[in-house]
Amino acid sequence: MTITPKPMGPIPPEFAGQAGALTIGGRRAEDWVAEVGDTPLFVYDPAIVATRVARFRAAFPGIDLHYAMKANPFAPFLAAMATMVDGLDVASAGELRAALSVKPATAISFAGPGKRDDALTVAVRARATLNVESGNEARRAIAIGERLGIAPRLAVRVNPDIELRGSGLRMGGRPSPFGIDASAASGVVRMLIDAGADWRGFHIYAGSQALDAGAVIETQAATIALAARLAEQADAAPPLVNLGGGFGVPYFAGDIALDVEVVGAGLAEALGARPAILRDTRFAIELGRWLAAESGVYLTRVVDVKDSQGETFVVVDGGLHHQLAASGNFGTVVRRNYPLAVAGAMGAAPVAPVTVVGCLCTPLDRLGDRVALPPVAVGDLVAIFMAGAYGASASPSAFLGHPEAGQVLAPVPMG
Ligand SMILES: *Cc1c(COP(=O)(O)O)cnc(C)c1O
Repeated sequence: MTITPKPMGPIPPEFAGQAGALTIGGRRAEDWVAEVGDTPLFVYDPAIVATRVARFRAAFPGIDLHYAMKANPFAPFLAAMATMVDGLDVASAGELRAALSVKPATAISFAGPGKRDDALTVAVRARATLNVESGNEARRAIAIGERLGIAPRLAVRVNPDIELRGSGLRMGGRPSPFGIDASAASGVVRMLIDAGADWRGFHIYAGSQALDAGAVIETQAATIALAARLAEQADAAPPLVNLGGGFGVPYFAGDIALDVEVVGAGLAEALGARPAILRDTRFAIELGRWLAAESGVYLTRVVDVKDSQGETFVVVDGGLHHQLAASGNFGTVVRRNYPLAVAGAMGAAPVAPVTVVGCLCTPLDRLGDRVALPPVAVGDLVAIFMAGAYGASASPSAFLGHPEAGQVLAPVPMG
């Protein structure tokens, strides 16, 4: 029986051209493992993040770049990121505390439903911007500000009547726990200005994981129009409009990287024609995976290679408890293969397909399904790419009682 291989996603450009031993941040994968002491191990290369930031700066002159830290909150990674971006977007009091250790409060905004009074208090006291998700939350933040004698910095998160077309995860244009419906948003803006809060503007996030530049351009133009309409209704010019993000990355076969230069040109055009009420407004784009995903590699060691009914299973010491997304159980409907490689044999010709499974006792723990890899043996390192975002912190590490993965940051580039 011959087994037809299933395709895998594209290896990120910084690694795709390598031959022989995989290097990350100029160092061999085996050397990273030796230094940290064990597998499984996430290695993040901030030089790759820096190239994405430089590309953003060139494509979006004058637009603020925010990092959505839930993509990768690993402290050294966050510290490196903080030096490269204008703002940090956080979604919990814990993230807020981490962000405050690397960025001034005025560069931090805090979104997310279900902020308790203790979280609101930390934000108001620190003078971070709260993106309020409801009228109730706005009133609670104002009351906390009155108690502390601080005018709270509040932005209104809008549940837009817009969807990001082709987005992996749609957040707008429907009933939502996130943000205030567009129909009610200007009323909340008026209320909080009249209550003496420091109104920071709008936060409008319409979706995630978009690869189609045309869809992103459409969404951004509609977002600008919506912000202008709401500002006119509230009769107040927003200091900042956070346009959301949604820039996707190619995880799977057939995915084509987002053309951010085209998006930048489209945004410049939309901003050039923006309504007068937004004339002095700053604009921000908040990105998670686009900045972080390709910078990370998850390294696992092969524990066993076995045959079952004609198929070869490569069993590694990692799994979905560290890298849930690669198993296809995080926000995808159909399981498809992330890019992976034998770390000692980059660029080597593939042989018969193998199925790479993790060490968890569940059939869900599949990291590569019938992937064409070069010969692979017990003791080899298998690298799974696209591990810089929604990896270690977005996986059920307590499941089945295996140790947590190590994490390490490669050297930060100079200058
Ligand atoms: C998660 C999140 C992001 C980041 O999403 P990515 O797809 O990783 O870019 C941005 N903004 C908000 C409001 C989020 O919740």
